[in-house]
Amino acid sequence: YNAVGILTSGGDSSGMNPAIRSIVRAALNSGVKQVFGVRRGYQGLVSDDITLMSSRSVTNIVQKGGTVLKSARCPEFSDPSVRDVAARNLSSRGIEALVVIGGDGSLTGAHILCQEHGIPVIGLPGTIDNDIPGTDDTIGFDTAVNTAVEAIDRIRDTARSHERLFLVEVMGRNSGFIATQVGIACGAEMVVVPEYAFDFHDLCITLAERHSKGQGSSGIIVVAEGRDPDLTHRLAAQLKAQGQDPKISILGHIQRGGSPSGHDRMLASCLGTAAVEYLLAGYSDIMVGVHKGAIVDVPLQRVIEEKKVLDRKLFDIAALLHK
Ligand code: ADP
Repeated sequence: YNAVGILTSGGDSSGMNPAIRSIVRAALNSGVKQVFGVRRGYQGLVSDDITLMSSRSVTNIVQKGGTVLKSARCPEFSDPSVRDVAARNLSSRGIEALVVIGGDGSLTGAHILCQEHGIPVIGLPGTIDNDIPGTDDTIGFDTAVNTAVEAIDRIRDTARSHERLFLVEVMGRNSGFIATQVGIACGAEMVVVPEYAFDFHDLCITLAERHSKGQGSSGIIVVAEGRDPDLTHRLAAQLKAQGQDPKISILGHIQRGGSPSGHDRMLASCLGTAAVEYLLAGYSDIMVGVHKGAIVDVPLQRVIEEKKVLDRKLFDIAALLHK
């Protein structure tokens, strides 16, 4: 390839910058003549907000959160005529292939662009939610988990000092990957996720048992944000009706940014390098991910069609270990 483009799209995640850096450098060091950065995801592709990148332009970003290319949602990209404009902008600059870093929506957009216009694309899983099929891990998940764990450790101090129950809501959209790992890592008394049934009665029994054992009423319940935006508040109201006085803490956007963890920097650097290798080997319409410690390629079609399942065993471990 003479020229390839990179874009970050959808919700930002920590590790997108080391991914950008590795793609730029791996490409330029492997004979690609030009690497272009597309700003603000698909929006920049449509509005032709595209800049030439160099090895120097990605200096000192390996440790930075967010994405230097910016990210955005671009709902118009669902319109074929808008995608025509994007394809024209790519070809007018001689950009022959595209690497897209983002979540399932972004990877869907990449797949459609490839199918419709024959533009070779490689996707990288970039989301804190870890909800992408075909890969065990996503860029930004580890950092988000660590940030939430650190925050909950602090909340735990207050919960114990004041013998208070805390409901802590973590991100994850419709999946409970963050909640489950954070719950295990923080020794949460309960984890509530969209994937598995939650037994309110069981929670009340657990809390009563703790109380009778003299463990007071302090505790942490980790709630995945899930589909129901009111779940955490409803749970708090139900617990109040049972004589508890829970506090609510919604961690929110602190989970998305921040300096990427060592793990996410490694993951992003290895996946970015692999994306270039796959591209230069003639692959297209795939996502590059990790499975059982090895780099794998997964057809984007499969990524879009499948749903990643939260390991029941992991969820059960969270329940087993708090007792
Ligand atoms: P994420 O990539 O984090 O899942 P979104 O779901 O918001 O975030 O998707 C990011 C962007 O990807 C959207 O704003 C849109 O530009 C593009 N996209 C999502 N779904 C589609 C689709 N079905 N067709 C074309 N583009 C899409």
